[in-house]
Amino acid sequence: MKRERIRLGVLVLATTLVLNIGVVAEASSATPFGASRWREPRVTYVVSGSRYYRNIYATAIRAWNSTGQFRFIQGSNAHHQVTLTTSNSTTGQYHMLAGITFTYGPQKGYYNQAKVLLLTRNLATYHYTTSNQIHVAEHELGHVMGLQHSTARNSVMLADNRYNGISRNDITAVKKRYHTPVGRHS
Ligand SMILES: [Zn+2]
Repeated sequence: MKRERIRLGVLVLATTLVLNIGVVAEASSATPFGASRWREPRVTYVVSGSRYYRNIYATAIRAWNSTGQFRFIQGSNAHHQVTLTTSNSTTGQYHMLAGITFTYGPQKGYYNQAKVLLLTRNLATYHYTTSNQIHVAEHELGHVMGLQHSTARNSVMLADNRYNGISRNDITAVKKRYHTPVGRHS
């Protein structure tokens, strides 16, 4: 009996060591997440704007939904949590921005509402291609889910991302965000 317990202890220690090495190796490129999230890894949304921008959002949504970690579900004007739209403003808080996300809810609590704006005139001025704009939409949806800016060169959450699609570390971060209680961040 005593021997079995000791052996089990050694096994657990070895497993823990392997896990720790994995975490340390990944830490530098992990996509960070904040203290807030939605109650469940899914939200309802409505999208407005030109047909072109509705397609940009639809493509970004398909990309995130296909990761299997979060679902953006079409809602109605009367019932939705997230508003996806556009603005041609270039001044004030929108100066030099490609997109912006506003999230609402109690501090360090669950989000209950969010709004994303793609800033169409800035996107045109700085010659963002359709592909670049889809990446901006994917980045903003990352904020909607609770992700924060990454310094990893291939992350969709790079602060000024234009060229990166969703990376493996970005997907892992969404999974971790929704397996980590609200109030705790990475
Ligand atoms: Zn951002």
